[in-house]
Amino acid sequence: MVPVSLRTLVGSIGLGIAAFTAIVIPVGFFVVGYTNKAALLDFKAEHAAAHIANHIRPNDANWRHRPARLIELLAEVEMASMPTRKRVVDADGALVVDDGTPIRSPTIVRSVPVTVSGRTAGELSIEASIRGLILQTALVGLLSALLGSAMYFVLRVFPLRVLDRTLGDLARANRTIADRNRLLEQQNQMLIESRSQLEEQNVRFDAALNNMTQGLCMFDRNERLLVYNQRFLDMYALSADALAPGISLESLLQRVKGGPPIPGGAEQHLQSVRNARDDNQAITSVVEIDDGRIISLVSRAMLNGGWVTTHEDITERRRAEAKIVHMAHHDALTNLPNRVRFRSDMEKALAALGRGQTLAVLSVDLDRFKQVNDTLGHATGDHLLQAAAERLRNVVREGAPMARLGGDEFAVLQANADQPQGATALATRIIDTLSAPFVIDGQQVLIGASVGVAIAPGDGTNVAQLLKNADMGLYRAKADGKGTVRFFEPGMDARMQARRLLEIDLRKALADSEFEVFFQPIVQLDPQEIIGFEALLRWRHPQRGIVEPAAFIPLAEETGLIAPIGEWVLRQACAEAVKWPEHFHIAVNLSPVQFKNRTLVQTVIAALAASGLAPQRLELEITESVLLQDEESTLATLHALREFGVRIAMDDFGTGYSSLGYLRSFPFDKIKIDQSFIKEVGSRSDSLAIVRAVTGLGTSLGIATTAEGVENLEQLERVKLEGCNEGQGFLFSPPVEAKELPALIEKHNRQRKVA
Ligand code: C2E
Ligand code: MG
Ligand code: MG
Repeated sequence: MVPVSLRTLVGSIGLGIAAFTAIVIPVGFFVVGYTNKAALLDFKAEHAAAHIANHIRPNDANWRHRPARLIELLAEVEMASMPTRKRVVDADGALVVDDGTPIRSPTIVRSVPVTVSGRTAGELSIEASIRGLILQTALVGLLSALLGSAMYFVLRVFPLRVLDRTLGDLARANRTIADRNRLLEQQNQMLIESRSQLEEQNVRFDAALNNMTQGLCMFDRNERLLVYNQRFLDMYALSADALAPGISLESLLQRVKGGPPIPGGAEQHLQSVRNARDDNQAITSVVEIDDGRIISLVSRAMLNGGWVTTHEDITERRRAEAKIVHMAHHDALTNLPNRVRFRSDMEKALAALGRGQTLAVLSVDLDRFKQVNDTLGHATGDHLLQAAAERLRNVVREGAPMARLGGDEFAVLQANADQPQGATALATRIIDTLSAPFVIDGQQVLIGASVGVAIAPGDGTNVAQLLKNADMGLYRAKADGKGTVRFFEPGMDARMQARRLLEIDLRKALADSEFEVFFQPIVQLDPQEIIGFEALLRWRHPQRGIVEPAAFIPLAEETGLIAPIGEWVLRQACAEAVKWPEHFHIAVNLSPVQFKNRTLVQTVIAALAASGLAPQRLELEITESVLLQDEESTLATLHALREFGVRIAMDDFGTGYSSLGYLRSFPFDKIKIDQSFIKEVGSRSDSLAIVRAVTGLGTSLGIATTAEGVENLEQLERVKLEGCNEGQGFLFSPPVEAKELPALIEKHNRQRKVA
């Protein structure tokens, strides 16, 4: 807009001046010329009028008639340069004189009155030509037009052209500037964007920096502090005021309470940073500061010559690591070393074993622990284990490696002792200390311990073998009645192997229906007739054929398999018995392990219910060992069964603890005298004495007695004589399959008739 108006202005000024020059000069020239001429004419006219007035006397009315004089007078005002025509008229307007040459038009006429004595006598007019003036004016006009044109060119065209060029230049410059501006704006925009990105990055960087779990500080090439984060301040209880960026490492370290967290101080650190920078390596160090915290430092050189150090408080981590290491090698419950640790202790001890030296491994297992756990609960079981571990610790020589291997299994190493006396002595001390009563959670608890021993190098030279052999000793100790110590012997291994195979087979025997129940008649002696049958379990092993119960029942008891097997026998026997004439009863053996199961009563009731057998026809045989365990609950179970109508027989009497007291503790329906006494009843007086004592006791308590294992007539006569009520044995019949029973009964009845 502005250049356009400037152009108009310049154009207008140029045009104005040109027009002015072209128009105003000639016009002015004409006006001035005309005015001058008019003035001159006026002057001449007045002059001439004065002459004429002088000529005319007052009241001379005849002046009009003297034109010649008037012409003379007029001649006085004649001008050579300008021819004029003069006319005089009187007061009435009548022409008096008309003098002069005809004037070429156009003309100018000037009139003045001729006043005589205050009275207008007439009027004089002078006429002159203004043609010359007009011609001059035309000339001047021509010149002015030329001048105007020149000025138009000089003042308008030229300046406008210059102006246009300049404006063009300006416009171009403008465009360039606009382009530059746009570029600048773009650059500006980019700058703004990168600035906002930078700001965002800064915010992120700040957030990252201040949310780091590590403290961080960064130094520049001049070893002055550049950046640090809040965590750094917190770690060393520093205030931000005390830590203005730009301070040196030296003065930073002085401000740190709790001692400089840099090993060797500033100078040494700087030196190592410089070295590390050259090697492009990070320097790591771990320091413990005054308040006990452990700090891990990592310093890394930066490209610009500075370096950055991170500070991490690893106290907790170290503690946790130490705890994990401890946990990995210790048992959480007793805090004794665990199996892993024990094995490594053994390895070390074996490696250090010199010529002629021995190393005994004692494998310790608590007796009756499972019972405590089952009856008193796991919490008490745990407390018992802790107490047992404590006693073991006290009994074992200070520093001797020992461990809890798992469950109620412990192990102890004994080095540098005379063997086997040393191990025997230690094992005895262990058994004694663990057999002393414990008081756990306010209850007295009685357990015991069995110990197996293997001695290196004789029983093995490596950890696995020694542990295995000690375990075999332990197994033997358990099998030999617990509370004892047994040393490993060659051959145990093979037995263990066989046992393991048997266990595997036994586990699938029930599922594969390999069990079978045989029945052996129980005979009333006077008069002699079958009154019932004892159910005896057989295992029809696919490879080994019929396996007797003695070969697998102990294992079934140990592994707990006896529970499902026993239940199966019970159901099987009841189902069979219900098919027999009603006066036959069925006797079923119960294992002590089955009494630990609180559902035994329900199991029995369920078997009866399932078969429809009357409870009175069922006789359960238990051994003395049943009464050895947790008497109260066992007696409660027995009473519950008896109340239900089931009869209870004491089996194999005389083989266990043979306490007659047991016979009084429960009102048994029957005592079965063990076959070992019957076998020798004719040859050994003590056997006879026992048979006699038992039958006597039975008679006095009103309990029937059964002689087991009657094989010949002599034995039969003997036991009959001693007052036994019933007998069982090969003499009558071995145990037979169920399907043989009808024939067996038939045969027996015939024999009886014959007899
Ligand atoms: P037990 O209850 O005393 O059974 C009598 C054992 O004596 C039976 O051995 C029987 O075959 C055997 N026997 C019978 N008459 C004679 C004889 O005249 N001479 C000789 N030498 N032996 C005779 P078996 O069947 O081998 O059973 C052994 C033991 O296994 C049983 O002794 C019993 O304690 C246990 N048992 C058998 N079946 C079961 C069962 O189903 N459950 C439980 N828990 N134990 C069972
Ligand atoms: Mg029996
Ligand atoms: Mg028996």
